[in-house]
Amino acid sequence: MKFYIKTFGCQMNEHDSEIIAGVLQQAGYQPCGELDAADIIVVNTCCIRESAENKIWGYIGNLKNAKYKKPGVIIAVLGCMTQQTTIGDALKRYGSHIDIVLGTYQQHRLPEYITRALAGSGQIVDISEDNRDFPDELPAVRVGGVTAQVNISYGCNNFCSYCIVPYVRGRERSRSLNAILAEIREAAAAGCKEIMLLGQNVNSYGKDLRKAGQTDAPDFAAVLKAACAVPGIERVRYMSSHPRDFSPELVDEISLLPQVRAYYHLPLQSGCNKTLRAMNRGYDTARYAEIIDRIRAKTPAAAVTTDIIVGFPGETEEDFRASLDFIARCRFDAAYTFIYSPRSGTPAAKMAEQVPLAVKKARLQRLTTLQNQISLAKNQAYIGQTVRVLVEGPSKNNPELLTGRTESNKIVILRGGAELINQITAVEITGAKTWHLEAL
Ligand code: SF4
Repeated sequence: MKFYIKTFGCQMNEHDSEIIAGVLQQAGYQPCGELDAADIIVVNTCCIRESAENKIWGYIGNLKNAKYKKPGVIIAVLGCMTQQTTIGDALKRYGSHIDIVLGTYQQHRLPEYITRALAGSGQIVDISEDNRDFPDELPAVRVGGVTAQVNISYGCNNFCSYCIVPYVRGRERSRSLNAILAEIREAAAAGCKEIMLLGQNVNSYGKDLRKAGQTDAPDFAAVLKAACAVPGIERVRYMSSHPRDFSPELVDEISLLPQVRAYYHLPLQSGCNKTLRAMNRGYDTARYAEIIDRIRAKTPAAAVTTDIIVGFPGETEEDFRASLDFIARCRFDAAYTFIYSPRSGTPAAKMAEQVPLAVKKARLQRLTTLQNQISLAKNQAYIGQTVRVLVEGPSKNNPELLTGRTESNKIVILRGGAELINQITAVEITGAKTWHLEAL
């Protein structure tokens, strides 16, 4: 039987889909690239924004046609969205064409539930938060090209006031270092040169293990060191990191690891202390600046990128200006910028003083203008330098060119043949744009 997976959401969800594909293949099912050809349709959902959720409801509704055309098809809905009790109930009530609804703790049970559904069990809903038998090792079918994504932890303990993740992914659970390393070795043996370590907050890796009595449990620095030591792994990246757990001492340790030290992504979210407190981020701008200064002192050529939310509830014009000033001080290589949108079920959605959309849009524009100037200047400084690029594949905009990334994670558009894909090549940078470099 063949399965088709539709994935919504972030990189973690994409990797979850790789694991779902691995679990299904291990159970004897075959992947297929077309929904119409599938006997099993899996929808891996995301609930980070309400707009995403609405899109997914539309997609799930349309699957009625698939069931109509092929009544025997099994439809399974998984992922963050289903873990919300209200959604699980709604899917049960309105989704008679859906055979299986599984929460984030139970995804590994999919083959077992497919067998039951095929035997005519009727609709199965399992959004239980019992993860006592969640396996530490799950197979993954990697689709990420030159980069292998490897989970080091699941869930999050931070409860940022705008974020739904801790409610749908549960408390933080670190995987064992042995299981992580086994996966990295397997990826290296398959030819992957770059590893992306995944977790909602990778920097707090191991805290839960130590709390549970494993006093010698490794910390995040130990995971990085061990990953870098795997033969064949040339680059190690990680996401997401959290300034609350990112100490200047961790910067010192990273600065000794050539596979990691050239790139930091450190989500700031706001450069205003009042807003950071309201977001429950657990650090202030002084602490953040201390980390940035340490990075620049230890590895001056490192690139630093960030995430910023504008228009958080209560953010005044003065607060926003303070944020802009701090962003100008940090001089990020790039910033992923977002307009705050209320997510029901989170404390921030209930906060008074929601900022009008027009104000949020105007602030985003001002932030983008500032950041684009900084990003362009930073990229222009690369012109004339020779950099080592890990080539990922053909450029999306011009398939006659290639795209790859520098050690500092800058996108480079370059010339070359397909034999360069998944290889590291040295090129001279000849041009710079806001979001990429050119070696043409
Ligand atoms: S660290 Fe904050 S933003 Fe990130 S997943 Fe946890 S609660 Fe959400």
